[in-house]
Amino acid sequence: MTFTVAIIGRPNVGKSTLFNRLVGKKLALVDDQPGVTRDRREGEARLGDLTFTAIDTAGLEDADGASLAGRMRQQTEAAIQDADAIIFVIDARAGVTPIDRHFAGLVRRAGKPVVLLANKAESRAVGLQTYEAFGLGLGDPVPISAEHGEGLSDFYDALLQAL
Ligand code: GDP
Ligand code: MG
Repeated sequence: MTFTVAIIGRPNVGKSTLFNRLVGKKLALVDDQPGVTRDRREGEARLGDLTFTAIDTAGLEDADGASLAGRMRQQTEAAIQDADAIIFVIDARAGVTPIDRHFAGLVRRAGKPVVLLANKAESRAVGLQTYEAFGLGLGDPVPISAEHGEGLSDFYDALLQAL
């Protein structure tokens, strides 16, 4: 079985870091500046015994028109269309923001299998309120650290369950 997974979320939550970890190469640009991934990137990802095509996207921005933010949003919507499943990433340290809520709605409406990842959840206790993240309507959040490679087996279980 081969399938395609789109990594979706607002800027700076760690989508490109996750993409690079899954693909095993630094194909995506990681930067402290939000929205640095301006082009869509695809790579062959591995997670446990699963292999699939991963799509890294720019962060979702709530804007329309010909602006950079608008193009990013269009790119994200196209990636959602093309994907068999969606990985929606939030920042466990920042908690759920209004932008996360807005775009969770867009992801819900796509009606595709979704895994909700709460990234940056390494080592020390994080402030994420689980019920707050659950309120996105995308299921239970799976805490991971894309940077440190933690939580990946729970992510694997959640992805298998979602598919
Ligand atoms: P994107 O905009 O969603 O693609 O986010 P990036 O992958 O570019 O990462 C944004 C910032 O978050 C960078 O400074 C990363 O080093 C940092 N980051 C990504 N994953 C983690 C993580 O698991 N833990 C921590 N503490 N920082 C992370
Ligand atoms: Mg990025």
